[in-house]
Amino acid sequence: MSAGSGPPRHVHIETFGCQMNEYDSELVRALLKREGFLLTEDRERADVILMNTCAIRENAHTKVYTHLADLKALKKTRPLVVGVLGCMAQNLKEELTKQEPLVDLLAGPDSYRQLPMLIRNAADAQELGEHVKSLAVDLSEYETYDDIVPSRIPGVNAWIAVMRGCDNFCSFCVVPYTRGRERSREPQGILEEASRVAAEGFKQITLLGQNVNSYRSGDWDFARLLTAVADIRGIERVRFTSPHPKDFPASLLEAVVFHPNICKHIHLPVQSGNDRILAMMNRTYTRAEYLTLVERIRSMNSRIVLTTDIIAGFCSETDEEFAHTYRLLEEVRYHSAFIFLYSERTNTIAARKYADDVAQEIKSRRVTALVELQRRISTERNREYLGETLPVLVEGDAKKSHLQAMGKSDGNITVVWEKGNVPCRPGQMVACSIYDASASTLYARVTDLSQHSTPKNAQSCTKIVQP
Ligand code: SAM
Ligand code: SF4
Repeated sequence: MSAGSGPPRHVHIETFGCQMNEYDSELVRALLKREGFLLTEDRERADVILMNTCAIRENAHTKVYTHLADLKALKKTRPLVVGVLGCMAQNLKEELTKQEPLVDLLAGPDSYRQLPMLIRNAADAQELGEHVKSLAVDLSEYETYDDIVPSRIPGVNAWIAVMRGCDNFCSFCVVPYTRGRERSREPQGILEEASRVAAEGFKQITLLGQNVNSYRSGDWDFARLLTAVADIRGIERVRFTSPHPKDFPASLLEAVVFHPNICKHIHLPVQSGNDRILAMMNRTYTRAEYLTLVERIRSMNSRIVLTTDIIAGFCSETDEEFAHTYRLLEEVRYHSAFIFLYSERTNTIAARKYADDVAQEIKSRRVTALVELQRRISTERNREYLGETLPVLVEGDAKKSHLQAMGKSDGNITVVWEKGNVPCRPGQMVACSIYDASASTLYARVTDLSQHSTPKNAQSCTKIVQP
């Protein structure tokens, strides 16, 4: 099938938000290629610009609107189809379709198969001097895109979604409304995909799901799936995100602790350290239950790296309740934390039930206090590695200088070193002796270029190939 009656249409995709969105863009690239479209990294060459959006927090949302405003000017200069994909398309269809005549098509996360048709309709109408607005935003109980092989950019890490949607309905969260009901993919499809990426030369796989602990397919649970992926030949590291603290099974913890290829890092979002706020958030665990889980994890392996997500300034949070979160951070001493200011999202339970009544400056002050505390703890945590030698998977050049290379430790901490005359390549495992540390980075000397082979798809140590 061709891309339409005219010459192939060049499509440029911009991705906002989380890893799940990055993965979805890979699915969309594959779907469009299959239909004869050409993908371009160059916005200026594109006949079609698709924005794969995130609606999880206000700042992601604002970013998309700023980009849309930029496109307005571009659209005046030449024929251009503009599409909004993903969570914002799903959640804000009325608002976005008012952006006359900027947005030509909307496709929600379960409607990507309809994209080729939507693009053709919009482009054909444009050729006739008309403007149609094509919408495909129905949520599905079944769509898992199991038959689509994502079109990945060669690199070190491959994302694989093991499930879609979420049934947890945390009161602050828009995901159950934008991504729909929870569905697990069949293990066979996931294992085939994992074997394929291993054969392509990816060295690390990150399994994705909004709550991986509720993965179920027949008698497969997530621990079984994770172990089976980690056993695939050629895969050196397997990561996953995110488990929900409410149902962290012993089998998963055992898999993390005992399987050499499963990284010793658990991202365990806590959101708040106060029981009343946790109940209002519908997180279904208490502070004490969460801390017991942390203890259980650390009693199995005290060196497991723990990270978290926190929301500051949720509806009606008092200074004292905020102090409980602050103290939880001091108590757990995470290696790092994503700290967010609460932003009310349309349609969520919190938006319907609770007033967003913590003043903006108080929210900001709370975020700043947590960020400062966490920066101090992260620095102290990272300094515990001084003098140690860690295996590091090389990713590419460091952000600040092409004279430096960077990679990740097993615990997912960024390690940076001077390349000098040490010829390392993305996908290679190197031994790094740590001599300094900041809140975000370990500084090292490479002491051993190990026997591990360079992946087939590695090009050179010139760019960070995966975020
Ligand atoms: N499913 C994951 C879980 O439950 O751990 C979280 C996925 S969500 C994409 C990532 C993080 O965004 C959440 O853990 C939460 O901290 C944050 N978040 C979600 N909704 C938010 C909101 N309305 N305001 C601020 N932060 C929010
Ligand atoms: Fe959102 Fe909660 Fe589902 Fe995570 S578990 S995606 S925070 S509803």
